[in-house]
Amino acid sequence: MPYEAPDFMDVDGLLTDDERVVRDTVRSFVEERVMPDIGKHFEEGTFPHNLIPEMGEMGLLGASLEGYGCAGMNETTYGVICRELERGDSGVRSFVSVQGSLVMYPIHTFGSEEQKQRWLPKLAAGKAVGCFGLTEPDFGSDPGGMITNAKPTADGWVLNGAKMWITNGTIADVAVVWAKTPEGIRGFLVEKGTKGYTTRDTERKWSLRASHTSELYFDDCHVSKDAILPGSTGLVSALMCLNSARYGIAWGAIGAAQACYDEALRYAKTRIIYKKPMGRFQLVQQKLVEMLTGITNGQLLAWRLGNLKDTGKSHFTHVSMAKRNNVKMALECARTTRDMLGASGITHEYVSGRHMANLESVITYEGTHDIHALIVGMHVTGLNALGND
Ligand SMILES: Cc1cc2nc3c(=O)[nH]c(=O)nc-3n(C[C@H](O)[C@H](O)[C@H](O)COP(=O)(O)OP(=O)(O)OC[C@H]3O[C@@H](n4cnc5c(N)ncnc54)[C@H](O)[C@@H]3O)c2cc1C
Repeated sequence: MPYEAPDFMDVDGLLTDDERVVRDTVRSFVEERVMPDIGKHFEEGTFPHNLIPEMGEMGLLGASLEGYGCAGMNETTYGVICRELERGDSGVRSFVSVQGSLVMYPIHTFGSEEQKQRWLPKLAAGKAVGCFGLTEPDFGSDPGGMITNAKPTADGWVLNGAKMWITNGTIADVAVVWAKTPEGIRGFLVEKGTKGYTTRDTERKWSLRASHTSELYFDDCHVSKDAILPGSTGLVSALMCLNSARYGIAWGAIGAAQACYDEALRYAKTRIIYKKPMGRFQLVQQKLVEMLTGITNGQLLAWRLGNLKDTGKSHFTHVSMAKRNNVKMALECARTTRDMLGASGITHEYVSGRHMANLESVITYEGTHDIHALIVGMHVTGLNALGND
């Protein structure tokens, strides 16, 4: 039976015709191209590289950016793309988030014309891959403490330091690297093969297995003067990229939750317990209703956020609230579904265990659940509980 995305209150009725066309196209792509192999990739800890040029061809990479071969879609459409992809797997959506929001967006926003011409068309087409290096072994929630530094030389810069937990690091043709300079934190483009720049994948993960998670090392790594992103002006520039990626996550998590709910509902209708379909039991119905209510709330939150972004009225705290709420909601749906499936829920025959494991990364990366509470909390109280004052 084909997947049916739950949409209890016809929230997608708020989308425009164009947005729904993209939704249907990406939904079919996920059904036909992602679903058949994603379980195997997760099991084997590999990423489906064959999908990269296909997603480029469809305009899904840097979808909301203008020019340079990008699709120039609105922010709501970008959100819908993330939702449909994450219904397949958080690893596939993570690829698109990193490529679009964390690599193409900073090049588009802070890059020189030459950098844009060199990288954006290739990245948009999926002919090149990028990664975003901010987190370090000792600095995750507090990236301002970073040790990685870039010292000016006569003809460029020399980078030293290490980055950790970097999505796509080993497969990236270009890394957007954040480093301390004498004038503060700046972004740099470091190309694969640059002397002194090495990468390696983090193995033995429980979560986001269909995704490369890597370490980047800079050991007297010399880059030219024009490797710096000229428009980057401190940590705030890196946070602007994260804000764009978190927005996509707020939508994406709904897709994972919808996939789990769909699985739970089917199971509840067909699994016979005490000679009755499992769905006849009140506790089971309550679980389904809790999930569906959470999904509906998440859909409305994401749609409104998209609307605020498309009309230039969104604030980064809106994004924090939506990322925080929707990922938690999705994780609860995945855990509930896994439970409702009983022993079957621990197998790869069903998707909820995979989504549950993936969402443990999603709730941590791009600002943990707690960090987003502190961001919104600081905004509403005017008092900083983050510890960086
Ligand atoms: C699969 C995966 C992919 C990733 N991809 C990337 C990437 O592409 N690029 C990149 O730069 N990074 C990436 N990350 C890193 C991610 O952004 C960090 O893991 C995240 O920011 C948290 O940092 P940390 O792991 O160092 O945890 P820590 O900062 O050490 O946090 C540990 C715990 O302390 C809590 N905590 C932190 N500060 C406070 C506080 N002030 N008050 C109360 N509690 C607090 C946190 O909520 C958390 O529960 C990725 C991570 C994962 C798991």
